[in-house]
Amino acid sequence: MASLSLKNVCKVYPNGFVAVKDFNLEIADKEFIIFVGPSGCGKSTTLRMIAGLEEISSGELWIGDKLVNDVEPKDRDIAMVFQNYALYPHMTVYDNMAFGLKLRKVPKADIDKAVHEAAKILDIEHLLDRKPKALSGGQRQRVAMGRAIVRSPKVFLMDEPLSNLDAKLRVQMRVEISKLHQRLETTIIYVTHDQTEAMTLGTRIVVLKDGIIQQVDTPSNLYNTP
Ligand code: ADP
Ligand code: ADP
Repeated sequence: MASLSLKNVCKVYPNGFVAVKDFNLEIADKEFIIFVGPSGCGKSTTLRMIAGLEEISSGELWIGDKLVNDVEPKDRDIAMVFQNYALYPHMTVYDNMAFGLKLRKVPKADIDKAVHEAAKILDIEHLLDRKPKALSGGQRQRVAMGRAIVRSPKVFLMDEPLSNLDAKLRVQMRVEISKLHQRLETTIIYVTHDQTEAMTLGTRIVVLKDGIIQQVDTPSNLYNTP
C-alpha cells in the first residue's frame, strides 16, 4: 500500500491562478521524496495541500487507505517542518515539543515519554527547559523537528528546512536528517533548492515547472551519476 498518493490533484487559487495541475504521484512507505523546481513552480502549494493547510481544488489525496481531501490538518497522519522553525517564543523547548500532543488531548505521561524520546534522538535533552531565544539556529531546527517527531506521523513534510542555516550546519543537519529517516522508518517529502541535498537525501526526485510534473526519477538517473 502506498503511504501517500495524489491523483490528478489541482490547485486553482481564488484569483483563478492555476498553481498545480494534474499532479499524479504514488509514494511508497519509507520513501524520501524531493520536490525541486524554480521558485513559484508549486512546491509549497503541493506540500500545503498534503498538510491540509490549503484546500485541494480537484483530484484526490490519499494517506494510506484514507481519502483525506476533507480531513482537518490535525487529523491527518502528517507533520510539517518549516524553514522558519515556527517555535513559540514564550514556551520552553519541552512545551514547544509537547504542544501538538496537548492539542490532541494525549495523556500527560504519554506526552512526557514522547518528548523525552524525541529529545534523545535529536540530542537536545539538555535544552528542554530553555526558551527558543537561548538556542542556536541548528538547535532550533532540531526542536522544530522534535515537534514533528513526537507525533510519530506516517509522513513528514519538510519545506526547505535547512535554508536558514549556514553552510557548515547545513551539511551537518543533512546527515542528521538522513539518519533520522532511517531510524524512524518514515516517509518524507522534502522541498529544496539545493542539488546536493536532493542527490544525497532523495530516493526519488520530482521536478516541477509551472505547476506541472516534468520528471520523476532517482537521483542517479536524474543527475547522471553512478
Ligand atoms: P514554490 O513553493 O515552488 O516557490 P508556490 O507553491 O509557493 O511555489 O507558488 C506557486 C504559484 O502560486 C506561484 O506563482 C505563486 O505566486 C502562486 N500563489 C501562491 N499562493 C497564492 C495565492 N494565495 N493566490 C494566488 N496565487 C498564489
Ligand atoms: P501541530 O503540532 O499540530 O502541527 P502546531 O503547534 O504546529 O500544531 O500549531 C498549532 C497552531 O498554532 C496552528 O494553528 C499554527 O498555525 C499555530 N502556530 C504554530 N506556530 C506558531 C507560532 N510560532 N506563533 C503563533 N502561532 C503558531
